[in-house]
Amino acid sequence: MKKFGGLSRYEKLREGKALCPLLEITSPKDFDNLSPYRQASDRLFLELPEYLSEKSNGLKEDVDSLLEVHSSQNEFYREYEDKIDIPVISGRPVPETLEAYRTARERFGEVAVRLFLSRELDDGELAEMNRLGHELRETDYAIFDLVDTVDMDRGDYGYLEALADIFSASRTIVANAMNVYSGEPYNWGPETAAEHGFNGFGDFAVGGRYPPVAIPNFHEATKIVRHYGVGDFEINEFEGDSYEEAAQSLEAWKPWRKSHCPFCRQLGRREDDCTSHMAKQVRVGHYIHSVLENDLELMDEQT
Ligand SMILES: [Zn+2]
Repeated sequence: MKKFGGLSRYEKLREGKALCPLLEITSPKDFDNLSPYRQASDRLFLELPEYLSEKSNGLKEDVDSLLEVHSSQNEFYREYEDKIDIPVISGRPVPETLEAYRTARERFGEVAVRLFLSRELDDGELAEMNRLGHELRETDYAIFDLVDTVDMDRGDYGYLEALADIFSASRTIVANAMNVYSGEPYNWGPETAAEHGFNGFGDFAVGGRYPPVAIPNFHEATKIVRHYGVGDFEINEFEGDSYEEAAQSLEAWKPWRKSHCPFCRQLGRREDDCTSHMAKQVRVGHYIHSVLENDLELMDEQT
């Protein structure tokens, strides 16, 4: 689990909106560190991110050792049942995911099913989504995790229209529709949710989907500060040899306003050089602030 301690700073902005953290638990100790997230919501999505065990990444070892003790997500959720509000069953649209969901719902009144979805689904996968959609309860969540949004503007994920229909009886969230690492950086979440009438959108604001393994001499690479658009869904990138240099290039950008939010102010009045930690906190904090302040209204305008 990666921590973001700024959730108490949104105050009034959160009124009437549901901000629901989804936390990937990589150690039982994470259960002792949930209070910062409860400042955002009293209901947390908690997931043993089994998928991180599939390929090399910075959290694979932790997840592997959890899976040695608890052989599946459901076993883990059973063990820590009293600490879990909403367990997350995750997987591709295959029969095993439906089976796991059925097991989880025997114990929990609310279950989230996080579905990793490619740009296109074959008939078998669509049939599986159909089955799931019919079984999910009103209190359950379907989280559509879009794994490849590079060509989102060229008609990928056209089947989301059908999913909106299939899952109309339960709560729906589109996740990870933020394209950052290749092509044009853009947050497709708000528009996609508005277009299909999904109940929410989100992405993994704190850590990447696959936190990379340490790369030797990585400190020599170019540093990038990413700044989410205010009033649009673009992600603006500023580079430098250090985070301080990247931050200065953001500050020199005309549309940047130091007074925008508590996080922009924090950056603007720093006394020491910007560190990677500060850059990350400002990026995430400013992003959530902008979503709460602007994006939900922009979404309403589009429907
Ligand atoms: Zn800001």
